[in-house]
Amino acid sequence: MAKATETILEIDLNALAHNYNYITSKLNPKTKVLAVVKAFGYGSEAVEVAKELIKLNVSYFAVAYASEGEALRNAGIETPILVLHPLPENFDVIVNRCLEPSIYSEKMLNEFISFAEHKNQTNYPIHLKFNTGLNRLGFASKAVSDITHILASTESIKVRSVFSHLAASEDASEAAFTKQQLKEFAVLSEALSEILPYPFLKHTLNTSGIINFPEAQYDMVRTGIGLYGFGNDVQETANLKPVATLKTVISQIHTIAAGESVGYNRAFIAPQAMQTATLPIGHADGISRGYGNGKGWVSIHGQKAPIVGNVCMDMIMVDISKIECKEGDEVIVFGNAPTAEALSEVIHSIPYELLTAISQRVKRVVCRK
Ligand SMILES: *Cc1c(COP(=O)(O)O)cnc(C)c1O
Repeated sequence: MAKATETILEIDLNALAHNYNYITSKLNPKTKVLAVVKAFGYGSEAVEVAKELIKLNVSYFAVAYASEGEALRNAGIETPILVLHPLPENFDVIVNRCLEPSIYSEKMLNEFISFAEHKNQTNYPIHLKFNTGLNRLGFASKAVSDITHILASTESIKVRSVFSHLAASEDASEAAFTKQQLKEFAVLSEALSEILPYPFLKHTLNTSGIINFPEAQYDMVRTGIGLYGFGNDVQETANLKPVATLKTVISQIHTIAAGESVGYNRAFIAPQAMQTATLPIGHADGISRGYGNGKGWVSIHGQKAPIVGNVCMDMIMVDISKIECKEGDEVIVFGNAPTAEALSEVIHSIPYELLTAISQRVKRVVCRK
């Protein structure tokens, strides 16, 4: 890879392939993989990621919103796409682009059936989402019989899958709760199997679910964060490779005298003479103000350069007093070291948030390392 000459997010497709192969090595050979590529592929590059995953034999994609599925279709992707959070407003795009809605309430089910009938659809694939404890989206388990009456009344739609989502699959201390969720899913999905006159897929594991509860993999698993290199577990993360590396450059170096201030609101006052480097990346690029004032740091020639003062919209200043470097030198914000996980930890966040916060202003550069 050439050295960065501006702020870029490098997307390593070989790391993605490595992670996909590692995750599938934990599954039964017949278990299908649904790759979650919502939020621009967890902030990476959804289209390139999706195309690579197709080569690796992925069965399904999931996005949060219909517009994200539309973008994949516009890029020529023909793999089935589950839309996790459709709204009636989006039904038109969904049906026009052959996207498959997650249906999570009776109201939604009735509305989607009316829409599908109006569009003269038959057997349009839908996915029934059940709430087993996350209390976010989903039918209650006890809704099974009401739903089956509605389903039996129309030919316009067909249940392609039944699924649920775990609330705390990464927390060993919540294993009893997760097992209860899995049990509830087993019961409700079995009840539907007995009622519906055709087979459908069942799925309930996310990345940490795959790692901690592989016995519940059913027909398919939904993996997101693991594909991008994080396992919510030190040991598992060690077996994965970060897909995204955020790089920038040194724009200008300043020598600051003792007592001088750096940045907005004069939040930093130099206790002694020092050198700072100004970098072309700020909170508008996804580096939250929380990383300012020494909490966050970047890596320059392998050495830690703490952020000095407040994070600006388009820039940060870092302390390079102990680092030999010059204007134009490359800077690593996250990647292998520090990882997005280590950096996000300093503001009590998680890699999911840091990765997806990297704004669309930052150029994505796809590579194979
Ligand atoms: C985002 C999401 C996933 C992926 O979870 P990871 O922890 O990233 O593997 C799976 N299922 C649903 C319903 C989701 O919203």
